[in-house]
Amino acid sequence: MKLPLDRYDRLPEALAGISAREIRSVFPNPSLVFIAGEDPQPLFISTLLHGNELTSFSVLQHLERACRQSPPPRSLIIFVGNVGATEAGVRHLDDTPDFNRIWANGHSPWHELAGDVMAEARGAGLFASIDIHNNTGDNPLYGCVNALRPADLQLAAMFAPVGVYYLNPPTTQSIAFSRICPAITVECGKTGNTDGIDAAIRLVEGAMRLKAFDPAPPGPDALKVYHTVGRVLIPENVSFGFGEAGVQLVLREDLEAKNFRPMPAGADWADTELSGMPLSVVDEHGNDLTDEFFCRDGRALKLVQDVVPSMITRNKEVIRQDCLGYLMRPI
Ligand SMILES: [Zn+2]
Repeated sequence: MKLPLDRYDRLPEALAGISAREIRSVFPNPSLVFIAGEDPQPLFISTLLHGNELTSFSVLQHLERACRQSPPPRSLIIFVGNVGATEAGVRHLDDTPDFNRIWANGHSPWHELAGDVMAEARGAGLFASIDIHNNTGDNPLYGCVNALRPADLQLAAMFAPVGVYYLNPPTTQSIAFSRICPAITVECGKTGNTDGIDAAIRLVEGAMRLKAFDPAPPGPDALKVYHTVGRVLIPENVSFGFGEAGVQLVLREDLEAKNFRPMPAGADWADTELSGMPLSVVDEHGNDLTDEFFCRDGRALKLVQDVVPSMITRNKEVIRQDCLGYLMRPI
């Protein structure tokens, strides 16, 4: 089976009048939009990899308006990703994979689709790549990079003063694109957050106008960078909740409020009636690092070392589909 990947040479004006759930009236299938600009080296913009993260839809609408009268300052290649999930208002449909986990390590039709997008991008000699997301937890705006190069860090600083360097999960769009150009994932807060929409549009506009990246990385005042060292997972057979009784793993109620705040060794994470370790921490290769980060103290689960959590969410569906959150260290 070969999945359709449609191609366009402009963003349709009809985008202006529709809601995200109506995306398939404009883009019935995943699509690549090639818009010629003054500087021919294209900026790649990745949108709607997750169908319920709609800041990128606002960026699409903005770009359609901006490009209506005159060509953009730099050529654009825009990927419109999981339109089926966007129509349904979900991260991904039950019978399709997560569109931000298909850019390596697989041979499904969706991996092939991502491979086709990559091949186009590689052939185009990109200036940079920006993938636009939202998250469900209580997080500041931040950009994620997968290489600590000056250009990638400059993109992050253009978006927000907080950056995250990660290599896990290894199958994301920005990790794949970081091998061919400066690449960033921007986390624009919760869907609908107007600061996030403004910052994403500012970044895209700034990257279109930028002639070249600075050879020096941004200073510490412009960007504070954290390194993601582990991803926290809850086994499927463990019931869990936040501060509520009647589940096997009772996570502390205020865990989400700890995002991007240092937590010292010894801090409590959870209380459990189970024996053993009812959560796990893995690195980008899938290696189990749980014992390096968590220990048992009676019923309590405590941190073994200082960490800064991120992307902790209370959304149980996201936790089941993706993870509880990440553990980071400042760089
Ligand atoms: Zn996302």
